[in-house]
Amino acid sequence: MLSGTGSDAGPTGADWAAAVDAVRQVPADGRVLLICHVNPDGDALGSMLGFGLGLRRLGVRRLQATFPGPPEVPEPFHGLPGLDLLVPATEAYPDPDLVVCFDAASASRLGDLVDRLDTAGTALVLDHHASNTRFGGIHLVDPAAAATSVVVEGLLDRLGVPLDAGIAECLYVALTTDTGSFRFEATTPAVHEMAARLLATGIRPGDISRRVFDHRPFGAVRLFGEVLGRARLEPPAAGGRGLVWTYATLDDLARHGQRPYVLEALIDSVRCTAEADVSCVVKQVAAEEWAVSLRSKGAVDVSRVAVALGGGGHRFAAGFTGRGTADEVVERIRGQLDDAVIGGGDQQEQRRVSVFPR
Ligand code: 5GP
Ligand code: MN
Repeated sequence: MLSGTGSDAGPTGADWAAAVDAVRQVPADGRVLLICHVNPDGDALGSMLGFGLGLRRLGVRRLQATFPGPPEVPEPFHGLPGLDLLVPATEAYPDPDLVVCFDAASASRLGDLVDRLDTAGTALVLDHHASNTRFGGIHLVDPAAAATSVVVEGLLDRLGVPLDAGIAECLYVALTTDTGSFRFEATTPAVHEMAARLLATGIRPGDISRRVFDHRPFGAVRLFGEVLGRARLEPPAAGGRGLVWTYATLDDLARHGQRPYVLEALIDSVRCTAEADVSCVVKQVAAEEWAVSLRSKGAVDVSRVAVALGGGGHRFAAGFTGRGTADEVVERIRGQLDDAVIGGGDQQEQRRVSVFPR
């Protein structure tokens, strides 16, 4: 394993049993707090709300879901079932009987809510990052899982909660988010089997995907055009595998009247670049603070880069918070790329071979 501190093995039978016990032992009037990572994406929100709806079916009445930072749900997720479970972080139970964390590789991803790991009676962690630091008390961390929602489905099943359309929609949004709509490597037969179980509840994949992935304000379309127009291609970076990157400032967002979360989809346009293995979007969060998204097509372990710069993630999708100017942040990434090239393979050379004789 190239990065992270965790092991690649998934939960043991004892881990599953401990998690089931932790949920079953919540007293009838007990308080359960669900927390997902800061700047929640589809897997974070979908896993958390899907599990919350399952707990509701089990009869848990004092139940909150939250995430650190501004209490703002990105527009693509406004149709998710279970949104009524959400409370602002400032209103979250200070000392719940059980806290459950979703899709967070490290305690720092819980922001100001990190203290709940200590104040809660029990802390249960559901995640799928190989870099998971094993914070909290009970760990259901499966690096082989395509999404945290795979772990959620496993736990709901062991708790005897059947899938209904509400739970299924949440878990489907999570699964499609983290597999890039069934395009990424993690899309195993088991992923499609899970998707089949979710779809069998009657949810409508076309409607869901349009809302979550294919729907944005015209201002965001124009903003994307501008930000993509300033992308830079650096073929020599990452030992010749190539880097493509761009950045977006708070001023860009303001000029186009857009909220920061619209930039989350930008990496998908940048990473299409044929001439680069590594892609990067540097998104301004504050004066000298940037949220960085990194992707690789397979020649570079970008989680190594992210971990070296204080973040985390998966081999081919990772991120971190950068300080200084955008140029300084990108310079630090360049400095880590050569060490993160996987094996000695020559993927770039292979890609240059023409299919036609010259
Ligand atoms: P994204 O680029 O979509 O924000 O994130 C890609 C992956 O990197 C996700 O698995 C996400 O959890 C992880 N990631 C993104 N930013 C950070 C960060 O600041 N810290 C850590 N530990 N992981 C991050
Ligand atoms: Mn995830």
